[in-house]
Amino acid sequence: MKPSVERIRHELKFRIAEVVRCQRLTPRMARITLHHSDFAQFPSLAYDDHVKLFIPQAGVPLAMPMAGPNGLVWPEGAARPEGRDYTPRSFDQARQEVVIDFVLHGDGPASTWAARAQPGDRLGIGGPRGSFVVKGEFDYYLLVGDETALPAIGRRIEELPAGARVIAYIEIADAAERQAFATAATVEIHWLERAAGAPGLLAAIGAADLPDGRGYAFIAGESATSTAIRDHLVTDRNLDSDLIKAAGYWRRGEADHDDGHEH
Ligand SMILES: Cc1cc2nc3c(=O)[nH]c(=O)nc-3n(C[C@H](O)[C@H](O)[C@H](O)COP(=O)(O)OP(=O)(O)OC[C@H]3O[C@@H](n4cnc5c(N)ncnc54)[C@H](O)[C@@H]3O)c2cc1C
Repeated sequence: MKPSVERIRHELKFRIAEVVRCQRLTPRMARITLHHSDFAQFPSLAYDDHVKLFIPQAGVPLAMPMAGPNGLVWPEGAARPEGRDYTPRSFDQARQEVVIDFVLHGDGPASTWAARAQPGDRLGIGGPRGSFVVKGEFDYYLLVGDETALPAIGRRIEELPAGARVIAYIEIADAAERQAFATAATVEIHWLERAAGAPGLLAAIGAADLPDGRGYAFIAGESATSTAIRDHLVTDRNLDSDLIKAAGYWRRGEADHDDGHEH
């Protein structure tokens, strides 16, 4: 099949889901399973889909917006919760569950909430509004990111079929943050551990020996790093810019960073 990328829209829905399981996947990654009857139709077609999570505040009723013609409409007088973007790491329509992996990076409404979450807690969840589907076969898939991109990268590695070749560069705090993925694909993962003094993502990609042939590159994580890696791949490696998706998932020193992607 000829490679192509296609954007598919979904009806935008908002729900207040219930936490049903909390697991500490690694010391700095919390895996939280959410339940809502509407997840029986949860639409997530692409590994880098995102949902908007609305974080409850102690003592304040959790208000949910509705999708209006000119953006979100909030109930009058309601306190608006903080919203942050997260990747549906996996979902199970039969069990009506969606799984989110949260990096516990420190201070921030989402990270703080996830560190303390318990079964029975509530969390607002909107979307996904659309999916960016990469179709067809590529000679290789280059997946690059820090721990915030691990949910998307892990989902991608697990869904690629036998015969697919994956090269991943993943920056993490230390060896305890490594994850294992069950996949039929052929996968080469370079874990870049900050505690071990590993080079950063840009330096590692700069020194990487990329295969010949047509590759598709997915880059996500700290915003300035993602942009620099994309520029390097286009300018110095002659990768086709249409076959690169680079996203800023957070920005150092900035809460609720928005890199212009659709919500
Ligand atoms: C499309 C998309 C998908 C994403 N998927 C995921 C996901 O599946 N899992 C996930 O954990 N994150 C994911 N992120 C990143 C996440 O939305 C941000 O890290 C977000 O800022 C976390 O919100 P917060 O309330 O914890 O911190 P904020 O209030 O937004 O930020 C508070 C402070 O923490 C800093 N900060 C934020 N994130 C990090 C970080 N990771 N490391 C170090 N410092 C940080 C900020 O610079 C700021 O100074 C995704 C982002 C996007 C855009």
